[in-house]
Amino acid sequence: ASYARIGKVEEQVRAYLTLDEEGAQAAARRLDDKLAAGEERGLLFGLPAGIKDNIVTEGLRTTCASQFLKNFDPVYDATVVKKLKAADTITLGKLNMDEFAMGGSNENSSFYPARNPWNLDHVPGGSSGGSAAAVAAGEAYFTLGSDTGGSIRQPASYCGVVGLKPTYGRVSRFGLVAFASSLDQIGPLTKNVEDSAYVLQAISGYDAMDSTSANVEVPDFLSALTGDVKGLRIAVPKEYIGEGVDASVKETVMAGLKVLESLGATWEEVSLPHTEYAVASYYLLASSEASSNLARFDGVRYGVRAENPDNLLDMYHRSRSEGFGSEVKRRIMLGTYALSSGYYDAYYLKAQKVRTLIKNDFDEVFKNYDVIIGPTAPTTAFKLGSQVDNPLTMYLNDILTIPVSLAGVPAISVPCGFADGLPVGMQIIGKAFDESTVLRVAHAFE
Ligand code: GLN
Repeated sequence: ASYARIGKVEEQVRAYLTLDEEGAQAAARRLDDKLAAGEERGLLFGLPAGIKDNIVTEGLRTTCASQFLKNFDPVYDATVVKKLKAADTITLGKLNMDEFAMGGSNENSSFYPARNPWNLDHVPGGSSGGSAAAVAAGEAYFTLGSDTGGSIRQPASYCGVVGLKPTYGRVSRFGLVAFASSLDQIGPLTKNVEDSAYVLQAISGYDAMDSTSANVEVPDFLSALTGDVKGLRIAVPKEYIGEGVDASVKETVMAGLKVLESLGATWEEVSLPHTEYAVASYYLLASSEASSNLARFDGVRYGVRAENPDNLLDMYHRSRSEGFGSEVKRRIMLGTYALSSGYYDAYYLKAQKVRTLIKNDFDEVFKNYDVIIGPTAPTTAFKLGSQVDNPLTMYLNDILTIPVSLAGVPAISVPCGFADGLPVGMQIIGKAFDESTVLRVAHAFE
C-alpha cells in the first residue's frame, strides 16, 4: 500500500532519495512467515517506515543529501535502525533532507528539494523535510528524522504532522552522521501522538555505542496517554508570541491554549530572557562542531574522491571543494574561524556561556510549571525559492526551536490548525527526560 501511494505522489512530493521496494517486500515476506509460525510480534509489527538519509542503513545507500556521499553504502545499521527492525518494521527507503542536516527548507539538498504536500509551491521545512512530507503525503506510516536546532519540529509544523525531539541522550546517536554532536537527536515523525509514543518506545534506551547516551530508565510512554491535563501548569514565554511571530500563527496557537484550558489546565505568561541570543550562539556552536565533525570527509574514508589528484593535499582540497555544497562550506568556514586560536574565547567560549544562561532560563521556569507552550515556528511554510538567497533570514526561522536544543530538553510539535491554508504547529516543551508529560499534553490536545 505504501508503494502504491509512493507510485502515485512521489513524482510531485520528492520526499525520498532512495527507494528500496525489493528490500521492503522481502522484509514483509519475512514478517508473513513470522506470523505463520505463530511467533511473537514486535511492538511496531508490519509498519512501513522511512528513514532520514543521515541515519546509516546496512547496504542501503546513505547520502546525507550530499554529492560527497552519493556512492556511500554503509556496512552497518544505526542503533535506531536495529531497534526498528527488532520491533518488526519495514524500511521503505531513505528520505530527502538538507545536505548534512544544515538548513530549514530542504532546498539545501544537493539532489532536489522535497515539496510541501499541502501546497507544492511551498517548502516542507527542514532539515527533515522529506521525513515530514512523506508522512503528510501518506508515503510512509511513520518516519525518523534528526533534530539539531529544529529539524524535526519545524518540518512537522510546516507539513501538519507530529514531530518529537526527545531529550538529548534519550535515543542513541550511534549511526547518525554527526552534524553538531552536542545537539543532534533522532526522533519520530508521525500522523498522531499515539504513534509518536509507540515509535519513541521502540527507539529509546541506553546504548554503550554512544558515549553521550543517557543511562536512565525508559518509562512506558503509552501509559502516559491518559487524556487528563487537569491542574496542569503551562508557561507561555512572551518571547515566543512577540515580535517576529506572524499574527495568524500566534492566534492559532492561542486558540490551542484555550482548548487545553477547557480541559482543566491553566496558563500564565513567563519570560525566557535570553531567547534573543539563542540563534547567534547556536550558529556558532553548531558550526564549530560541524567543522570538526566534517573533517572526516577527506576523500579517503568515505564517499567520493577527486580524480587524478596532484598530491595528498590536492586530493583533500578538491574532494572537499567538489563534494560539499555552499551551505556546508559556509558552516565549515564559520566554525573553523570560531575555533581558531585567538578567536576561541571571543566566540566559542562566549557562545557556550550563553548556552548555559539559556538552559538556566528553562530550569527557572520549570520550577513552577509542568510544560512550556508556544508556536513551533514564527510562520507557516514559505514559498520555495523565497529565502534561499539570504542565509540570515533562513537562520531566523529557527528562533523558537533552537533554545530547546541548546537546553537539551524534549519538545513536540503537534498540529493545531491552519493559517492562510497551511498547517500551524504548537510546540510543547518539557523537563529533561519527561517526554511522558509532553506526550500526555499533546495527546489530550490533539
Ligand atoms: N535549521 C537549523 C540549521 O540549519 C537546524 C537544522 C537541524 O536541526 N538539523 O542548523
